[in-house]
Amino acid sequence: DQVKKAAPVADARPDHVKQVIVVGSGKGGVGKSTVSLGLALGLHQLGLRVGFLDADIYGPSAPTLLGVRRPPEFGPDKLMVPPEAFGLKVNSVGFLVDADQAMIWRGPMASQALTQLLTQTRWGTESQPLDVLVVDLPPGTGDVQLTLTQKTLIDGAVIVSTPQEMALSDARRAVTLFGKTGVKVLGVVENMAFFKAPDGSEIEIFGRGGAARLADASKVPFLGEVPLDPALRAGCDDGRPLTALEPDGDMAARFKVMAQKVL
Ligand code: ADP
Repeated sequence: DQVKKAAPVADARPDHVKQVIVVGSGKGGVGKSTVSLGLALGLHQLGLRVGFLDADIYGPSAPTLLGVRRPPEFGPDKLMVPPEAFGLKVNSVGFLVDADQAMIWRGPMASQALTQLLTQTRWGTESQPLDVLVVDLPPGTGDVQLTLTQKTLIDGAVIVSTPQEMALSDARRAVTLFGKTGVKVLGVVENMAFFKAPDGSEIEIFGRGGAARLADASKVPFLGEVPLDPALRAGCDDGRPLTALEPDGDMAARFKVMAQKVL
């Protein structure tokens, strides 16, 4: 019903952006931001010009994930010039307002902030357009997700889930929501799929394979597994993403495969 009430979907992307990919999840805490950033860096490693828009109003994480504390400056054209980190152009709702304030925003304020980030950031230029803008959405299937479909043409959505049934049932809802709004679901990622023990065995702490089964049942692609990895977590906390530090490592390879699949 929420979907029926929504205004028509947008038919244009932000200026000088060739492709918009959103990353969503049913639940919070499943690693959506970690995976969106990995995907953005994977796309960058494939040689593309990539932007990363942290639209998670309930917990903006890009400033921490990328160690970027400085908000964007305004150019002569009054557009925000996004700071660059690890080759990505970055803007975050966290730069506009402090996180505690964003938490209590009402829907219209959140959607206004999101529109500003999308349309008033100089993501690309005439001669150097952005190939892909990766948008890290807030978790869930609420107003922000719907609003976004009215503000920009979205080329596709990636859904992140952990293997537990609780996370999967919410992820299923997210797949359905995007399908209903006419956004193509590019696929599902299983985060925290296993932990590789020092002896090489793979321990399936939260179970494994649920996201692949969800993708199958929903007839959307399965984009891959991301293991639980303390180094991935540490890099997120330090603002030094693991895949940027170890571009030839196993984690970077996984995200590059994912990047190839969504293009
Ligand atoms: P979300 O965006 O879904 O709320 P985050 O990406 O912020 O989730 O991740 C939540 C926490 O889990 C963060 O501390 C992050 O570093 C950690 N995390 C996410 N994925 C992994 C992983 N595969 N291995 C280790 N830690 C992870």
